[in-house]
Amino acid sequence: MIMNEIAKNLKSVNEKIKAACDKAGRDFADVTLVAVSKTKPNEMLMEAYEEGVRDFGENHVQELVGKMNTLPTDIRWHMIGHLQTNKVKYIVGRVYMIHSVDTLKLAKEISKEAQKKGVTVPVTVEVNIAGEESKFGGTLSDGEELVKEVSKLPGIEVKGLMCVAPYTENPEDNRGYFKSLKAMADKLSLKELSMGMSGDYEVAVEEGATLVRVGSSIFGARNYN
Ligand SMILES: *Cc1c(COP(=O)(O)O)cnc(C)c1O
Repeated sequence: MIMNEIAKNLKSVNEKIKAACDKAGRDFADVTLVAVSKTKPNEMLMEAYEEGVRDFGENHVQELVGKMNTLPTDIRWHMIGHLQTNKVKYIVGRVYMIHSVDTLKLAKEISKEAQKKGVTVPVTVEVNIAGEESKFGGTLSDGEELVKEVSKLPGIEVKGLMCVAPYTENPEDNRGYFKSLKAMADKLSLKELSMGMSGDYEVAVEEGATLVRVGSSIFGARNYN
């Protein structure tokens, strides 16, 4: 990607978040843009950093830890991908938030590691909002139970809910899912809602997202080769 493309993209994404906030009567300051930098090289993250971005999202522990060890220490790292229990120890106490808590087993491991390190880990509980086979997290009703169980664990603080909505060409298709997640968060008195990606973050913000996870609209398409 050519120079300044990232700056331009960030400006555009932020303007769209602002417009969605205005439309919904929300405060722009209540929405955090998490720049999803998976597969992207440090130079690109630093371009975003120079533009003021401090929240970065990654989905693989090894890549996350590698970037964390190299890049500025004031970055807030968000673990947004499926997390295996045997990798928990590498990120507890180092990441700002774990978004993808999808089982009680995982939460217990985070709790155990947090106690060992004397820290509290902020998390969101992942809900499989559309009940897709390919996605992690419980359904809406399982999710509620999971929130209750996870909330009892020491060293872990449930801040809110997270979902990865279905891939769609039309973001309006996901509005209903975002509404459902918002309703569930309200019912459980949870503040944070991690929802919305490049394809649907404006709709997610209109429906109450406090953390939007945007990758390709900032850094360009990912190449997995
Ligand atoms: C990759 C990823 C994103 C960002 O996806 P884009 O469509 O590139 O914005 C958001 N959330 C999760 C969980 C991801 O894995």
